[in-house]
Amino acid sequence: MANNTSQKSSSSIVLTIAVLGLFLLLAGAIGGGAYYFMYLNAATYMKVDKDALYFKKAGGKEEIQIDYDGYTWSVHQSPNWVDIDKQKNALSVEVNKNSSGEDREGVIVLKSGRVHASISVEQKGKVTFIKPSWNHKWITEEGGEFLVDIESDGCDLECRGFNGLDVQKMAPTQYKLIVPSNGQNDPARYLFARLSEDDISVDVEIEQRGVCLKCNATGIVDCPSCKGSGDKLIFFDCSKCNGTGKITCDHCGGTMKGYVHIN
Ligand SMILES: [Zn+2]
Ligand SMILES: [Zn+2]
Repeated sequence: MANNTSQKSSSSIVLTIAVLGLFLLLAGAIGGGAYYFMYLNAATYMKVDKDALYFKKAGGKEEIQIDYDGYTWSVHQSPNWVDIDKQKNALSVEVNKNSSGEDREGVIVLKSGRVHASISVEQKGKVTFIKPSWNHKWITEEGGEFLVDIESDGCDLECRGFNGLDVQKMAPTQYKLIVPSNGQNDPARYLFARLSEDDISVDVEIEQRGVCLKCNATGIVDCPSCKGSGDKLIFFDCSKCNGTGKITCDHCGGTMKGYVHIN
């Protein structure tokens, strides 16, 4: 009886050990397999050739090469304003125009197994510079057409003409400034085009030759010494104008034509 019981209990111990062994084997196989796939078979390193991307307000596209020793990689995290196109060993990052008016930044995190690679992404919300190919021109009475090329990191540039200047858009970054001719008796004038976007505004100025504004086409002006009186100073005539009260216009040199500002 006692013998029978011990036989029974020893066989159930054997069974328990066998089940436990089988379970351990199975768990080991699953665990080992998982371990193998997750760690041993996955990447041990992951590198990107660019870890920071900068986009202007208009957006754009950038390619990044990935160097890693795993079989696959995935995007673990990325800002919602960034579009990612995955390739085997590269990704292209595309960003649309930022219409928020604010700069924005975020991080793209790539993952393979337990290794990560991060790429920071920044995009401007506003234009930061507007640079015309020239700022000031002196032109003749005939007027004419003048091209100005604009260098800028913006994408909503506006150009308006003032004081009779006509503006024509030739290309996204090129404008033609059209100045009509100045008539024989038209005064010298100052025309300008204003380039603007967001908080930046830059003027491109044109000065057109015309009738002298200082002497009004007479070539002479009041003598500044005697204020035009020609008055004798005790015994002598005004030495500057010899008592005439007038001197040659110092703006146009007596030519009666000139510019608004002195060239
Ligand atoms: Zn005088
Ligand atoms: Zn003058």
